[in-house]
Amino acid sequence: CGIVGYVGDKSALDVVLEGLRRLEYRGYDSAGVAVVAEGALTGRKKAGKLANLEKELAENPLPESGLGLGHTRWATHGGPTDANAHPHFDADGKVAVVHNGIIENFAALRHELREAGVELLSETDTEVVAHLIGREFPDCAGDLAEAMRRVCRRLDGAFTLVAVHADVPGVVVGARLNSPLVVGVGAGEAFLCSDVAGFIGHTRDAIELGQGQVVEVRRTGVSITSFDGAPAEGKPFHVDWDVAA
Ligand code: GLU
Repeated sequence: CGIVGYVGDKSALDVVLEGLRRLEYRGYDSAGVAVVAEGALTGRKKAGKLANLEKELAENPLPESGLGLGHTRWATHGGPTDANAHPHFDADGKVAVVHNGIIENFAALRHELREAGVELLSETDTEVVAHLIGREFPDCAGDLAEAMRRVCRRLDGAFTLVAVHADVPGVVVGARLNSPLVVGVGAGEAFLCSDVAGFIGHTRDAIELGQGQVVEVRRTGVSITSFDGAPAEGKPFHVDWDVAA
């Protein structure tokens, strides 16, 4: 339902939680976050309000990091439980994925993964995406956006996806089809959100991603392609309207 991804010099956790709070008006039933620090991915997720997640984070803190993502979930496939909350992870715990929308062909993909010996830990349509990215990544020469493109070409439905990988420092990737994704471009930092409200406290320079596009953001720039890998452009705009704090 609400997505915030961040790369920059601030605390990713603070930025992501603040963004998720600003997206609360959309409604949600669970929430989660993940950060990459010193080559390791760590996440926390909880059913219920953001306060539940914040309590969990106070008891089990995450390491300081400038790279992370978070999600508030409005369940469509699988009840509102801790296990079904996003982010979802691949089997090696290297990939974290958050997702808005519905992966229509998730049952066939779950079946394929199970046949390959993958243990699925949730009932969601989303978890398959984390496993598929994790399995493509070793063939992608360290290019997380390429792994995302390969997986997107296999997905039917409506989705906004944002992902990070423990072995790809300084990069957040996103993708969209029939569901919105907006890049916030700051000075030495970047945001990937479902809605400008997720980053409006930090920058008003934005790029709306087009249909069927994948975006890679770093502190220093934004690179966009279509799902088939051709260079592409989003729609830059400036947020000059007032957004409630
Ligand atoms: N279909 C996904 C799920 O049920 C994402 C729901 C959402 O958009 O929050 O987990």
